[in-house]
Amino acid sequence: MNLENLTHNLKTIKAQLKTAHLVAVSKYSPREDVESAYHLGQLDFGENRLSDLQEKADYFTTQNLLNVRWHFIGNLQTNKVKELFKVPHLFAIHSVSSLKILEEIYKRIDSFEGLDLKIFIQINTSHEDEKSGLETKSEIKEVFDYIKNHPHPKIKLFGLMTMGSIRSLDFQKSAHQSFFELQELKNQLEKDYNLSPLELSMGMSQDYLIALEYEASFIRIGSAIFK
Ligand SMILES: *Cc1c(COP(=O)(O)O)cnc(C)c1O
Repeated sequence: MNLENLTHNLKTIKAQLKTAHLVAVSKYSPREDVESAYHLGQLDFGENRLSDLQEKADYFTTQNLLNVRWHFIGNLQTNKVKELFKVPHLFAIHSVSSLKILEEIYKRIDSFEGLDLKIFIQINTSHEDEKSGLETKSEIKEVFDYIKNHPHPKIKLFGLMTMGSIRSLDFQKSAHQSFFELQELKNQLEKDYNLSPLELSMGMSQDYLIALEYEASFIRIGSAIFK
C-alpha cells in the first residue's frame, strides 16, 4: 500500500488511542506492508492464522527485524499449540477460549522459547454461536481456578479478550454491551482471585472508539490501518 496512507492511518489511530496499545492486525496485508509499518515504529502485530504468522515471523527474523512482538488472535486448535510456540518473537495469545486449549498450553509451555507467554482469556460477550470464547459463569470459574492452581513462571495471565457483535444490525449498541460486560467481568475477577490489573483486548476498526470508553488497553485494528 501507499506509504503516505499507512503513515497517516497509524498516526491518526495512535493519537486516538492515547495510552492504549495498538496491535496492528496484519492478516490482510502482504509482508512488505507489515515491514513498512515496523519501520514507522509499529512493533505489535496480530495474526489469526498460524501459517500466515509463521510466514511473516520467519521473514522478520531473516530481515533482522527483531523488536517485533507477534500476537496470535485467531481460533487456536489444540494440535497447533506446539507449532505456535516455535514462532519467533511470539508475545501473546489473545484467543485462549477453552479449558482444553489452556491445558494444552501448560502441557507444551516448555517448548516456548521466549521469557514468558502472555495469555488473554477470550470471552464470548456477544453470545453469537460462531464466536469462540467462554460464555458461562461456570466455564469462566473453571478456567480461572485452573490458572490459580497452576502457577507457572512462563505463563502470565495477562488479560481478557472479546469481540463485539459481527451480525447485529446495531453494532454500536451491541459493542457497548459487549465491552461493558468485559469490563465488569475484569473487575469481578480481579477481586475474586486477588489479581493484579488485567488488560482488556477489545475494539476493532469499526468499534475501537467505543472500546476505549470501557478501559480497553490492547486494541486490535486491521483494515483501518492497512486499507
Ligand atoms: C481481523 C481481526 C481483527 C481486526 O479487524 P478489523 O475490522 O480489520 O480491524 C481484530 N481481532 C480479531 C480477532 C480479528 O480476527
